Amino acid sequence: MNDREILHQRLICLGDMMGDGLHLERDGRWIAREYKRVLKALYPEIFPKRNTTERDTAIVEWCKDNLCKDCGGKIKQTRKGSMRVVCTECGVKRQLKVRKHSNL
Ligand SMILES: [Zn+2]
Repeated sequence: MNDREILHQRLICLGDMMGDGLHLERDGRWIAREYKRVLKALYPEIFPKRNTTERDTAIVEWCKDNLCKDCGGKIKQTRKGSMRVVCTECGVKRQLKVRKHSNL
């Protein structure tokens, strides 16, 4: 068997386990995680890379207009593609909410 076939077998096996509802059990969370990982390895095109450039730009703009509510320090995005910002002074993190018809 080649790698792909092995992955396929694993996917089927995990799918069966999920069919039995094992992934819903307390110690079965890894099953759904693993299923997604294998699926991604086999069919990466199912998980298109989202282009986050627009969001990043919008967040950079937002950071220019807003200061930390706690200390008035400057805010920056925690990492590219993230919806979280962090204060460069006191380290407080904030989750930006997605509003309709807006990037933030
Ligand atoms: Zn702050």
